[in-house]
Amino acid sequence: MEDCIFCKIAAGTIPSKKVYEDDECFAFHDISPQGPVHFLVIPKKHIRNIMETTPEDEPLLGRLLYRAQKLAVECGCGERGARFVINCKDNGGQTVDHLHIHVVGGRFMEWPPG
Ligand code: 5GP
Ligand code: ZN
Repeated sequence: MEDCIFCKIAAGTIPSKKVYEDDECFAFHDISPQGPVHFLVIPKKHIRNIMETTPEDEPLLGRLLYRAQKLAVECGCGERGARFVINCKDNGGQTVDHLHIHVVGGRFMEWPPG
C-alpha cells in the first residue's frame, strides 16, 4: 500500500534495522524500544490490523507468530521469556495501521498493562 510506513520498510524504501526477512514476513527493530529487545514482525502483505484478516490469511498468521517466537529465542529471550503483543485499533493502542507483532524482552514486565 502506497502510503503505509511499514509497507515501505518491508520494501526497503524506508530504512530499518532488519532482524529477518522471507517471502511473506519481515522483522525489524522498533525505533522506540520498550526493552533491551524490541522488534516487530509484520506480513509483507498490507493488512490493516488483526481484525481485518480473512480465512486465507490463517497460514500467514501462523507463520508470523512462529517466526516471532523463533526470533525471540535467537535474540536471547528463550530462557526468561518475552511479551508478544498485537495492538488493534484505537482501544488497543494501535498507531501504525499495518498488522505487526511486538516482541519485547530482556526485562520483566508487569501485567496488566496501564
Ligand atoms: P503500535 O503502537 O501501532 O502497536 O506500534 C507501532 C510501533 O511502530 C511503535 O512501537 C513505534 O515505535 C514503531 N514505529 C513507528 N514508526 C517506525 C519507524 O519508522 N521505524 C521503526 N523501526 N519503528 C517504527
Ligand atoms: Zn502496509
